[in-house]
Amino acid sequence: MPSATPKIRFEHVGKTFPLRTPRTARAAPERFTALQDIDLDIAPGEFSVIVGPSGCGKSTLLDLLGGLTHPTRGRVLLDGAPVTGPGRDRGTVFQSYALLPWRTARGNVEFGLEAGGTPRRERAEKAAEYLSLVGLDGFADRHPHELSGGMRQRVALARSLAYDPDVLLMDEPFAALDAQTRESLQEELLGVWRRTGKTVVFITHSIDEAVLLGERVTVLTSRPGRVKERVTVDLGERAPSDDPRSSPEFAAYRHRVRELLHGEVSRAQELERSALRGKETAA
Ligand code: ADP
Ligand code: MG
Repeated sequence: MPSATPKIRFEHVGKTFPLRTPRTARAAPERFTALQDIDLDIAPGEFSVIVGPSGCGKSTLLDLLGGLTHPTRGRVLLDGAPVTGPGRDRGTVFQSYALLPWRTARGNVEFGLEAGGTPRRERAEKAAEYLSLVGLDGFADRHPHELSGGMRQRVALARSLAYDPDVLLMDEPFAALDAQTRESLQEELLGVWRRTGKTVVFITHSIDEAVLLGERVTVLTSRPGRVKERVTVDLGERAPSDDPRSSPEFAAYRHRVRELLHGEVSRAQELERSALRGKETAA
């Protein structure tokens, strides 16, 4: 699966944040290491999933790709060139819908196109096309408060797809949805990915979701986030009516990712406990 030129490359990427401002001008601020020495290649058209314990730097990693923040060390490359800022070659879908409440579903999808200077008529056509693609025919005139959580997330997906980015960045996009809505959105997203061949970087807490969606699942360590292991998932070809979750292959991948992840979650909890003990001793 790895191709000669990766679509995305993390090269020894580190990211630290200043912890607090120093009391004196001479003291350097303490820094918190969110990501350490991340090396990661993502092939063109790959569906790449990233899992890791809470606080391990998953959102930070996606922000680096989105150009919303910059690495402290190393480089993030997109098509071989360093990411310098946000761009329309990448579309992001967050956990919370980030829709404009005063605009209809259509208006929200068109919003992403207005910034790109798409003519009005074409915007309307594209909005209709992408709302239909995500199963929202007939809901174009509804406002976000008139839509369910799943429908709002469909609008957010349509908005990102409408301006045709090469790369979709998704930060726990289905985490707030009920199980059934989540399953149908997972299917829709796989369908969109198969039809469009976009590169997807998808972050999740859910092991099942990771194995179901990912061609490769990257497990990050707890603080600081490093690449613990990459698991290549091959569930084989199957009829659309089959539920892949019930296959023995699925169970084996789920077990593998769970093992990798659980070691890290325990380590994160142990770190937390020892930090608390340190505080008690100091007090
Ligand atoms: P995750 O998405 O895996 O839960 P994040 O990437 O959101 O983790 O955060 C990783 C760590 O970096 C957390 O401990 C968080 O508190 C810290 N962090 C994230 N953004 C900032 C920031 N702008 N300033 C300081 N610390 C931050
Ligand atoms: Mg996060």
